[in-house]
Amino acid sequence: MATVLRPQRMFEQAVRDAERLRQPAGLGLDSQGVRERMIARLGQVPDVHSAVLGAMQRVPRHQFVDPALAPQAYEDTALPIGFGQTISKPSVVARMLSLLMQGSFAAQQGHLGRVLEIGTGCGYQAAVLCGLGKSVIGMERISGLHEKSRLLLRRWLSEAGLDLPVRWQHGDGRLGAPQGAPFESIVAAAGGEALPPAWLEQLAPGGRLVAPMASGEAGLQSLLVVDRLAAGGYQHTRYEAVAFVPLKSGLI
Ligand code: SAH
Repeated sequence: MATVLRPQRMFEQAVRDAERLRQPAGLGLDSQGVRERMIARLGQVPDVHSAVLGAMQRVPRHQFVDPALAPQAYEDTALPIGFGQTISKPSVVARMLSLLMQGSFAAQQGHLGRVLEIGTGCGYQAAVLCGLGKSVIGMERISGLHEKSRLLLRRWLSEAGLDLPVRWQHGDGRLGAPQGAPFESIVAAAGGEALPPAWLEQLAPGGRLVAPMASGEAGLQSLLVVDRLAAGGYQHTRYEAVAFVPLKSGLI
């Protein structure tokens, strides 16, 4: 069973984790070359969007994972981030954000508009989203990860010189973020059994949602894309099979 941490201890642990994550020196991971090789491989992802590759090129993924795992940060692999959760593979991040960029609003405007991310985890994908959207709300249900991602993202935003309206919320993402709605882009990094109604309500006309969702076959998930049509109604499209951590209710 997972260890239950009190909020203050979780916060302190998050600060310690974030400090530990501060830079493994001497691994050569800060060089542009390491990231460029990852980006070259991501060029193989089906229908990958150039803006997504550009945004991923700018985010130092190794700064978001444990130093012990940093040497693997630019391989195409999911990695543990604590609390039983994982950071998604770079190719899956590239695929999902490319699908978002191909929605009607983003295709016309060239950016993701107001973005809601459910399942901020260590904050890596949220950092990439900061390079693609006009504002970002990141929701995470585990307070230790919420605090960690906030610290890491703040640091990265200031290092990158980005000044975006970004908000991090410790909350149940299944309820969306009504105070920030509507969103032109919604992306979930945890897989649910059914689409939460709040996501559909909070999606702007012309907006697009991308989420892993149960596919009907026992235990299997696939990527679901939902477009809110400007003319009214929603269009659902299923894509390939994926494997994400579960979308859970309640906060810890
Ligand atoms: N995008 C993340 C991936 C994190 S894994 C990254 O780049 O690191 C998915 C995350 O979804 C986990 O941290 C998990 O705690 C979170 N999650 C699961 N159910 C949730 C819910 N209902 N609301 C918010 N976050 C949730």
